[in-house]
Amino acid sequence: MSRLVTGVRSFSTAASSLLIDAASSAVRSARQPSSFPVFRDVPQVRQLRRQLLKNDRSVGFVPTMGALHEGHLSLIREAARENTDIFVSIFVNPTQFGVNEDLSSYPRTWDADMEKLEKLNEELANAAAAASSETTTGRISAIFAPTAKVMYPTLPPSSEVDGNGSFVTITPLSKKLEGGSRPVFFRGVATVCMKLFNITTPDRVYFGQKDVQQTIIIKRMVQDLHVGTEVRIVSTSREADGLALSSRNVYLGDRRRAVGLTLYKALKAAEEVYRSGKTSRADILGAARSVTDRVLAEQQALSPSERALFEADYISLADPDTLDELDLVDRSRGAVLSAALKMAPLEETRDGERCGLGGGKVPVRLIDNLILQPQQ
Ligand code: AMP
Repeated sequence: MSRLVTGVRSFSTAASSLLIDAASSAVRSARQPSSFPVFRDVPQVRQLRRQLLKNDRSVGFVPTMGALHEGHLSLIREAARENTDIFVSIFVNPTQFGVNEDLSSYPRTWDADMEKLEKLNEELANAAAAASSETTTGRISAIFAPTAKVMYPTLPPSSEVDGNGSFVTITPLSKKLEGGSRPVFFRGVATVCMKLFNITTPDRVYFGQKDVQQTIIIKRMVQDLHVGTEVRIVSTSREADGLALSSRNVYLGDRRRAVGLTLYKALKAAEEVYRSGKTSRADILGAARSVTDRVLAEQQALSPSERALFEADYISLADPDTLDELDLVDRSRGAVLSAALKMAPLEETRDGERCGLGGGKVPVRLIDNLILQPQQ
């Protein structure tokens, strides 16, 4: 414990004294960060939250499943611009994985995550030192990394479609797009976010545009269930060539990564058509389809040791609030253009080939989207 409290004391903001009590129950983990406590249970989070509230401080909350990358960090940076204190949760939520999905193989990188968060906290401290007095430059004040038992205290978490549990369901939004092939996914997401919001009672919550359906569902949940928080959406972080950052990209390897970029290229082709003035579904999605069809045909013509096959699960042109599919984009409303590609496992690998985590055998679902902006 002493090491942790020492670390918390070294956190050189007004929050540090508030943190010391709450930190006394923080977890010891493989790698213990020094500039913020890690809580495993709810009462310590609540205690810190109460202290922050009494001191007129604001909390921005960033929920994650860990395996942190620049996309996650961009949410925290945005939260730091608007809040004095940031809570980050790391919890791989079992109820959003279907019974046949990749819960056990989901990447877990605790030590690397803590290193990234500590480095970011240093960056935020330096920014605070350089900033003018009117600018808010918050810091990470706590990590919440609960166990499944803490998050699901009574019944074991169920991934069955008709499984029992205390769930939040947001329909019909949850049934569309991703929900088509992942029927329990958004029930799990909405439920865990509701729990996390109840535990952290944040002033603002931060979600990535990358998961556009999730942002729409969370906004709907907050509105319909009168959750007292503001939902902020942060733009998608991408690699230089456009591939959206994702914790799952580590499974791609070079070959599937190159072919996986088709998703972004298809969306960009469709966006270009909208920008050129066309608004019909046939024109916009036709452009995306022609990219995916062409690349798939090229791959199919290659040998199993050279190709990466995939299936386009959906390519959608939908209303930004209801996610209803559109035949025609209303220019005053714009639209959400989104797609999912299922990258199949590699059939054959070559000697020395960089196949990614899992040796190219793990199927990878890639999702991405672009917002077709309203135009006058
Ligand atoms: P996850 O850990 O995958 O559940 O993601 C946690 C949060 O990070 C969600 O709000 C995601 O939308 C967001 N996120 C994931 N990837 C990106 C990205 N490439 N750019 C921006 N936000 C992202």
